[in-house]
Amino acid sequence: MEKLTREEKKARRLEQRRLEKEQAAEERLLEKKRDLVYKDTIALQKRSEKEEKIAPADSFISLQHINKIYGNHVQAVFDFNLEIKKNEFIVLVGPSGCGKSTTLRMVAGLENITSGDLYIDGVYANNLEPKDRNLTMVFQNYALYPHMSVYTNMAFGLKMRKFPKAEIDRRVHAAAKTLQLEEYLDRKPGELSGGQCQRVALGRAIVRETGVFLMDEPLSNLDAKLRVQMRSEIVALHEAIGATTIYVTHDQTEAMTMATRIVVMKGGYIQQIGTPKEVYNNPTNTFVATFIGSPAMNILTAEYDHGKLRLANGFEIALPSSFVKGHDAFYFAQEAEIEEKIAALRAELEDPELGESLKQIHLDEINKLEENAAKFRLIAESKCHPIKLGIRPEDVYESGEPTEATKLTASMEVEVFSAEYLGKEYFVHADVGEERLIAKLSAKKDIAAHEKISLCFDLGKIHLFDEITTNSIPAVE
Ligand code: ADP
Repeated sequence: MEKLTREEKKARRLEQRRLEKEQAAEERLLEKKRDLVYKDTIALQKRSEKEEKIAPADSFISLQHINKIYGNHVQAVFDFNLEIKKNEFIVLVGPSGCGKSTTLRMVAGLENITSGDLYIDGVYANNLEPKDRNLTMVFQNYALYPHMSVYTNMAFGLKMRKFPKAEIDRRVHAAAKTLQLEEYLDRKPGELSGGQCQRVALGRAIVRETGVFLMDEPLSNLDAKLRVQMRSEIVALHEAIGATTIYVTHDQTEAMTMATRIVVMKGGYIQQIGTPKEVYNNPTNTFVATFIGSPAMNILTAEYDHGKLRLANGFEIALPSSFVKGHDAFYFAQEAEIEEKIAALRAELEDPELGESLKQIHLDEINKLEENAAKFRLIAESKCHPIKLGIRPEDVYESGEPTEATKLTASMEVEVFSAEYLGKEYFVHADVGEERLIAKLSAKKDIAAHEKISLCFDLGKIHLFDEITTNSIPAVE
């Protein structure tokens, strides 16, 4: 143990106190800045609320430039834009804390919208009371009343809203029929299976007959088997009653299996909106590429060199011409795109009512864009620069094995680090330079750790991502 003299101890204590004070001062400064951003945003929203609000004709629920800054001035949602059509099943998905629930709760009216416009069924809804929005919220905790029958559980909400008895009866029976609960109406929750209880909980929501469901992780308390069963039941229910659903989950499998369209979020920002197929096959950036799909897409560091890729282990891939064309078009367009963005930001800066804090945010953004423009200029000139290669585990093959791929890369020899046996296939882990690659290989042949194997990639399924923005560089036919 280190022995300290009394003076040294004192010096350390003083130093610690000084650091704490500095930190507190920094916090206060940050808090002040956040406070200003909040006030400036609210001021712009107040001005916007005076304008005439015309609901978009072709969407059922419309979220336009929605921002949410919480009371403690943490911005949870940034410029959220989404047009939802009737009967869509929209899934908001992303890691914990990315702003999914906040967005859902703003649609429900359980959280104020700091700025932006929300329209529901042709009506400007920012200031509507939750009860006037004609939506039904389904939460994670669905606690049924244990002493009440299934019928009474489902009827309870309507009874509280003083619906006539005959109408309650009609709705409960209609919901029970859709959910195949007719035989169980007299039972108590204790006499039902977990899946049936979950259906009763859904029943309580559908008797409201609003046709719009907002669901916040409704399955996360269930065991894995029940979750799989309920996934398909909720989708079937959504279709059976022609509902419009917004569903929040952090589980990409739920998003992929249930959604008609997925909204992938990260850090309060939308990353991509698309059908499950679009998001899986054409992820817009490395975040979406690795978040959607399991095991995740491999992202490998590479060097782009005049139409060739060189991986960290020296392995070279001659890119098909569509990728070379896509690469050139992407980098050629970057400067113009950045200039367009900068021009838009500068135009906003002209607004005399834009507060100082928002002005500063715009200026910081312009600086960053200008820095990127300079980097892109160098890349466009040199045609030799770092890049990211993306390949899904199922698009990696063992050389010589039969594949569905029409064009493969040459063979790359790797040493197997581990091989997870899954019955029909292995997940084979191997190192490429300092990065780990996962390949989903057929288990017809045994594969074991430390074995040397030759791998190749399906050239039609590779993805290129820009190193600076992490954005996808699409191929151009
Ligand atoms: P998700 O649903 O994606 O997990 P949330 O929408 O719940 O994320 O939260 C987004 C961000 O907002 C997080 O940083 C969270 O800490 C913050 N947040 C959520 N609710 C509140 C609140 N009531 N007050 C302050 N911050 C909040």
